[in-house]
Amino acid sequence: MADETFYRILFVALYALFFSVRGYYRFVKPKRSEPEIVEERKEFGKAEVVISLAILGYFGTVILYLLNSSWFAWTQIFTYPEIIRWIGVLLTLSSVPFLWWIHRTLDHQYSPCLQIKESHSLITEGPYSRVRHPMYTVLNMFSFGVSLVTANFLVIGFALLVIIPFPFVARKEEQMLIETFGEEYYEYMNRTGRFFPRLRKH
Ligand code: SAH
Repeated sequence: MADETFYRILFVALYALFFSVRGYYRFVKPKRSEPEIVEERKEFGKAEVVISLAILGYFGTVILYLLNSSWFAWTQIFTYPEIIRWIGVLLTLSSVPFLWWIHRTLDHQYSPCLQIKESHSLITEGPYSRVRHPMYTVLNMFSFGVSLVTANFLVIGFALLVIIPFPFVARKEEQMLIETFGEEYYEYMNRTGRFFPRLRKH
């Protein structure tokens, strides 16, 4: 049986691994490339409030958990088998190569907000050939996976709360992409799934 300190170190290591990929594409790479003209921008709307609150709660409880996990004894209604923590590790580790592949494929079309850049092209290759929002799937797969590692019900609760607004964000994003790419995007929608690959062809 590994003790809580071990899982806390594992948690930090998994975060460091994920953010070495995410941080590079989010902060380092955009700085190195030419700034681009933004043609259109869409707000997240109400979803932004839910996402911000959930992320705030998530990181708030994570910091408290890392400082002293015994503060949360009152939230632990029951304990789950250690294997579930390791399933979390597996989910988290498998999300990293996917994140890398997704960022490489989306390239400069990526942005942390919803926008269309001047040289925007529709990406339909690699992970985007089967799924329209693989990055959202992988981000949530990571934050849920790593929350299982903590076995802390508040962290898990916030990780689940973060998932709820994504279908709304995805719908807004799709409206924007339809306005930009029209028929091409409709056809793309017909052959792909929103967050997971389609099992049956339509
Ligand atoms: N929702 C996608 C991308 C997230 S990054 C995913 O989860 O993988 C957000 C930016 O990606 C948006 O500003 C949008 O303009 C752009 N985008 C989303 N899908 C795209 C696609 N298939 N081709 C080109 N750009 C896309």
